Amino acid sequence: MKNKKIILASFLLLCVFVVVALIKNQPDYISKAAYEELLGQNLIENVIIENNEVLLKTKEGNFLIAKELVDLNTLWQKTPIEHAKDYNISEIVLIVILLVFLVSYVLFLNKRNKDRQNLLSLEKNILEKTEQNTTIQDVVSEVKFKDVAGVDEAKVELLEIVDFLKNPQKYKDFGVKMPKGVLLVGPPGVGKTLIAKAVAGEAGVPFFYQSGASFVEIYVGMGAKRVRELFLKAKSKAPSIIFIDEIDAVGKSRGDFSNVERDNTLNQLLTQMDGFEDNSGVIVMAATNKIDLMDSALLRSGRFDRRIFISLPDFKDRMHILQNYMKAKKSSVELEKIAKASVGFSGAALETLVNEAAINAIRRKSDMIEENDFFAVLNKVLMGKKKIFSLSDKERKIQATYQAAKALSAFYFDVKFEKITLIEDRFKEYENTIKSKSELLNKIKVFLAGSVAMELIFNESYTNAQSDLLKAKELFGYMESFAMANEGLLQEQKQEVKEFLELMKEKVVKLANMLLENEKIEKQDIEKIIME
Ligand code: ADP
Repeated sequence: MKNKKIILASFLLLCVFVVVALIKNQPDYISKAAYEELLGQNLIENVIIENNEVLLKTKEGNFLIAKELVDLNTLWQKTPIEHAKDYNISEIVLIVILLVFLVSYVLFLNKRNKDRQNLLSLEKNILEKTEQNTTIQDVVSEVKFKDVAGVDEAKVELLEIVDFLKNPQKYKDFGVKMPKGVLLVGPPGVGKTLIAKAVAGEAGVPFFYQSGASFVEIYVGMGAKRVRELFLKAKSKAPSIIFIDEIDAVGKSRGDFSNVERDNTLNQLLTQMDGFEDNSGVIVMAATNKIDLMDSALLRSGRFDRRIFISLPDFKDRMHILQNYMKAKKSSVELEKIAKASVGFSGAALETLVNEAAINAIRRKSDMIEENDFFAVLNKVLMGKKKIFSLSDKERKIQATYQAAKALSAFYFDVKFEKITLIEDRFKEYENTIKSKSELLNKIKVFLAGSVAMELIFNESYTNAQSDLLKAKELFGYMESFAMANEGLLQEQKQEVKEFLELMKEKVVKLANMLLENEKIEKQDIEKIIME
């Protein structure tokens, strides 16, 4: 492209030179009087006759005069006369150069065209191949909210989106802006895909599914193109839902080892999300279980600014899911028992569990699933590929005490949390950008509280403290970078928590029992226990 421009510019320049040279060489016409003056003063040195004109070469320059105005006899006596050659040598050289130039330019253009055509047909081939393998297609979802057990808070939040997809015009008329992106955050198998399908099913709109990994895996250089196509198709079928599963495959923060393909895809995704109107009728839903690894650009306002956390199901939800999957099966099982025994199972794991229990019953040549069928396969599901987290009674007690101590310390040291359950906790992010030393110290205390309680109550250390201890160290490192930390700091925090928990020992045990019963701790539970 660049070459072509340079050649074209030099060609034009050459033309300009030629024209200027020709114009410059073009002699002026003179009158008969002026000719006689030149003749009289013997200024004419040479004369060339060209057709009906006479070219006079003089010391003053070249002039032309009509042949009939000149008496050739008189002129001939004074100056030599030549008859014009058709072209002089310099003109011939110039014309040859021009011709050579033109021919090579035409040849060059021809070659470029051929190259381009080859490239185009190659691209077309790749595109056809890709399209054959991976055409972007929407599906009609039959899933409804009632098919998704539990996750009630998420459903409430998503009802608004369903309504918007059903009546985009209503929102447009009121000038209400809808979120463009909804990020579903939670561990694998908790029903993120299912709930996105349910939104499409409830709203009766087309559902476009793409896994984040598929963007970057098919063909190099195709990720960005697929993103463009996906949005184009979704817009053409709006209102519609785009669902990007495992978005972290594209949306991982761009660290030192950035991957060009992924970056291009991510940039295209950002461009597309910025490019469509809030009320275009396309809602992008995405799922991840690693929000902390996501590129901050994706989480910025106007992109995935609505986030819905989906946790592993609690007892009530597990009951609901088990009932769902047992509905069509003959059984004599008290599902409460199974729900109690399956702490840490995701919805997907519960589905597998029911399936395996049914297979076990068939193996026994029975058409009725019994409790023992569940217990016979519980361990198999646990030990299976999915490595699902589950606890024995003793482990449950240890874990409940650990989490209760953390919850109580968080309440006392004013560290806000969204959720504390038997197996997970989510502390609120800092609301302020400028963090104080005491805020950070309090958070460290909460991360140390569990292991301190283990020593106080069980006189033992356990491995479940590992991730909290790492977080405490991480925060300590962070404080060091602001010159807020000294050697004894972690020890001092530990001592403070210890003093607090020694006073609270009984309350920790009570809260732990409450947690065992309900599987989660609410702020009111803590307040109640503290006030007692
Ligand atoms: P995720 O997208 O969070 O990894 P999925 O939506 O793919 O999880 O869940 C996989 C399967 O597990 C679903 O198709 C469904 O059969 C079952 N499942 C998961 N969560 C639930 C739930 N809350 N209610 C009913 N079924 C569930």
